Amino acid sequence: MRIAIIGAGFGGMAAAYDLKNAGHEVTIYESANYVGGLASGFKEPHWDWSVEKFYHHWFQSDDEMLGLIKELGWEDKVLFPRPLTVMYHNGKFYPFDSIIKAMLFPGLGFGLDKIRFGFVGLFLRLTNNWKALEKVTADTWMMKWAGKKVYEKMWKPLLIGKFGPFYRDVNMAWMWARIKARTTRLGTFEGGFQRFADLFAEKLRELGVGIRLGVKVESIKREQGRLSVQSSGKSEAFDKVLVTTSPNLMAKLTPDLPENYLKGLLELKSMGAVVMVLSLKLQLSNEGYYWFNLPKEAGYPFLALVEHTNFVSKEHFGGDRIAYAGDYLEAGHEYFSLSDEELLERFAPAFKKINPAFERDWIKKVWVFKTNYAQPVPLLNHSKNIPPIQTPIEGLYFASMSQVYPWDRGTNFAVEIGRRAARMMK
Ligand SMILES: Cc1cc2nc3c(=O)[nH]c(=O)nc-3n(C[C@H](O)[C@H](O)[C@H](O)COP(=O)(O)OP(=O)(O)OC[C@H]3O[C@@H](n4cnc5c(N)ncnc54)[C@H](O)[C@@H]3O)c2cc1C
Repeated sequence: MRIAIIGAGFGGMAAAYDLKNAGHEVTIYESANYVGGLASGFKEPHWDWSVEKFYHHWFQSDDEMLGLIKELGWEDKVLFPRPLTVMYHNGKFYPFDSIIKAMLFPGLGFGLDKIRFGFVGLFLRLTNNWKALEKVTADTWMMKWAGKKVYEKMWKPLLIGKFGPFYRDVNMAWMWARIKARTTRLGTFEGGFQRFADLFAEKLRELGVGIRLGVKVESIKREQGRLSVQSSGKSEAFDKVLVTTSPNLMAKLTPDLPENYLKGLLELKSMGAVVMVLSLKLQLSNEGYYWFNLPKEAGYPFLALVEHTNFVSKEHFGGDRIAYAGDYLEAGHEYFSLSDEELLERFAPAFKKINPAFERDWIKKVWVFKTNYAQPVPLLNHSKNIPPIQTPIEGLYFASMSQVYPWDRGTNFAVEIGRRAARMMK
């Protein structure tokens, strides 16, 4: 079969790998000039490693991703350091990356609330019955079982940070999946995620997959028994096509889809993200903390501060310290229209709260990355609203972050759904 894949993110590339190995002729169309999609990175001339545009790491439970890397023979390039994650409480940060540290966290006191926090965490780790949990919102479930104090201190800030105005609507299965599938050890690839994406693309090219960079697909139509892919005024015919874009873009590319499938795509909610990357002369966190969870109510202008060089060595970046300040935001939020300088004006005072010695002249360079599609929002009974991978148009398939539910989006699940789509197409 002649197969086209739209998107050279981790999902599209994983699908291409399996389809090519099964003997098909595979062409990937990618609108950007690079592979890797949302997990792509960039590099300054004096850096040996790339930095992800949006902070990225793997969990030890990311079996699909780690399994693929093993198949490709690159497992010796995967590193799993143990960086420190901290939680805010009354103007201070406390390590929060093990059961013992969680038990010592003063934000919940040391009585019944701590016990409830522990039991709820244990229950969610042990249960597999997410179907029951998607019938209730995380807000309601946590208030009931974890209690007001634990919910408001621990879980509500997370929900508000991730889902903003939709935080009360998110179902409890999302929270379950987060707790179930995460580990404290965090992983990356030697050279950065972009290095992995480039090596993977190189391998695909060696196998004979065509990767067309800088080619934006404009429409996909069924014509004369085949699927015609239009780009830059040209049209090419394929037996099967897999689209790995956001649901919104999918709806734009394929207006001939039946109304109920299109409606399903357009009704899926998601949050965007705005992430600032800074290269700094000095270390921001004196304690060497990697990930700061910042509740909105503490007055920080972003949700997470992530000091990347407290996860991987600054030596890979010519001695520069790399930090991210990022937030999940609904489309139309003012951060999307601010210039990089305006955003820095908003963010910079908060760096002084992390380290009072911080001065503006520590900043060497700033980059800002924005995406409208960063985090799907799973509402009640979400499993009933997921568009099938096989669309009603014969030969046309769709695999996106919005369909990996009940799991939360991530490169691990992009690989899983890409390979699942490939099995269906075969
Ligand atoms: C802020 C943030 C933090 C994250 N943190 C992590 C993390 O720590 N760990 C983790 O594993 N995951 C993380 N993720 C999620 C991860 O990046 C995604 O789940 C994964 O990259 C999705 O891969 P994909 O192939 O499904 O889609 P994408 O990577 O979005 O790939 C789709 C591709 O399609 C291309 N495309 C779109 N339209 C067209 C068109 N018309 N024609 C041709 N090409 C087109 C796009 O350019 C893109 O390259 C994070 C994401 C964000 C936004």
